[in-house]
Amino acid sequence: MAMTKKFQLGGLPPSHSFMLNPYPDQSIWRCPLCEQKSKQRKMPILIHIVPRHLIVLNYTCRYCQGCDLLIAHKHEIEHLLTELFLQNDPDAIGTEYLIIGTVDKNIWREGIKQSKSLDEMLPHASDFATYYKDLQLTRPGYYRADQEPPLREPPSSQEWVKAKPHSHRK
Ligand SMILES: [Zn+2]
Repeated sequence: MAMTKKFQLGGLPPSHSFMLNPYPDQSIWRCPLCEQKSKQRKMPILIHIVPRHLIVLNYTCRYCQGCDLLIAHKHEIEHLLTELFLQNDPDAIGTEYLIIGTVDKNIWREGIKQSKSLDEMLPHASDFATYYKDLQLTRPGYYRADQEPPLREPPSSQEWVKAKPHSHRK
């Protein structure tokens, strides 16, 4: 059967836009899209760790109400994932992961109390409606008017890395 639609995990209609902030030292006080002040919003976030784990993290994002945009710090997410997987499945640390969407807060709370399985929570999850590419910042400094400021290269992951000492990194 041909798949014509984007693969969707959550049972609820997609909602919220999402962006990852890959700069550990940069807090996003203003929305990168509209430059209004951003707020904080704690949300249960659904993450697929490829290939075999699907987890929910209760995580405080920066949030712009006007754009309905959630922004997560990449290094914080990876820190929380690393702590979680050190106990559960250390081999999964450093594999690809995909931040999929949000889970209804009430359902998530019930799930904690009654240890609901993720299968029971998925019908109450929403994939992100828009997934923006990672935040990009330019290097600070003075530039001529006709000069594009160079992009600041975000640092690579510190904790969420494969634990093989002899492997070669790209
Ligand atoms: Zn905004």
